Amino acid sequence: MLDAFLALLVPPRCLACGVAARDVLCAACRAALPWLAGACPRCALPRPCAPCPAARQAFSAAWAPVAYDGPTRALVHALKFRAHLAAADAMAAQMAVVLPRDGPLSEAPLSEAPLVPVPFAPARRRRRGFDPAELLARRLSARTGRPVVRCLRRTDDAPRQVGAARAARLRTAGVVATDRAPPAAVLVDDVHTTGATLDACARALASVGTRTLGAITYARTVRSA
Ligand SMILES: [Zn+2]
Ligand SMILES: [Zn+2]
Repeated sequence: MLDAFLALLVPPRCLACGVAARDVLCAACRAALPWLAGACPRCALPRPCAPCPAARQAFSAAWAPVAYDGPTRALVHALKFRAHLAAADAMAAQMAVVLPRDGPLSEAPLSEAPLVPVPFAPARRRRRGFDPAELLARRLSARTGRPVVRCLRRTDDAPRQVGAARAARLRTAGVVATDRAPPAAVLVDDVHTTGATLDACARALASVGTRTLGAITYARTVRSA
C-alpha cells in the first residue's frame, strides 16, 4: 500500500541503472539479464561443471534462472537490504519458470514438498526486521501453490536443552531443523554461492527424516573461467 502511494510521488526507476522504468528493471537491463540455460541439474552451474561441486552435497537438484552478475545483483541487493516487494516478485516469477513441474517434485504432493526458506542469522533478522529468503519463498509460493514452511533455524537460535552430543553435531552443521519439518522439501534462497549453506540445510532436514528434493535460488554465482 505504502509502495503504491510512494509510486505516485516518486516515478519508478530501474533498480539496476536508475532510468525511469515502469518495471523493476528497464527494457535494456532486462535484456542484459544473464540467463542460465542448460545448467547442470545438480549444482545449477553452466556445463561442464566437472568436478560437480554438488556431488557431495545433500540436496539432489539445484535450479537458478540467472547468474549472479549485472542487473541480477541490483535485484538481490534491493531484496536483501530494502525488502523490495516488487523486486522479490520479479525474482520469484523467473524462479517459477525453472522450478520443474515434472520429475520427483511433481510426484510429491504440494503440501508434502513445501518451500523451506534458508534461515537468516537471528542477529541479522533482528537488525533488518525481515528474512530475504522467506520473502522470496512467499512470492514463489503465490506463483506455484507450494506452501512455505519455516522449519530451519541457525544454531545460534537453537534451544539450549538439547543433549551435548546432538548440540555439537548441530553446531558443526550450522543449521537445525525443527519438529515441524515436512516429509520432503524444496530449499529457497536468494543466491547459491558455494552451496555450503544449502548443504547444511539439507543435512539438518535429513537428520529429522526430510528428503530435500532440491534447492531453488534466484541467482547462481558462476566462477569466472
Ligand atoms: Zn536499467
Ligand atoms: Zn554440476
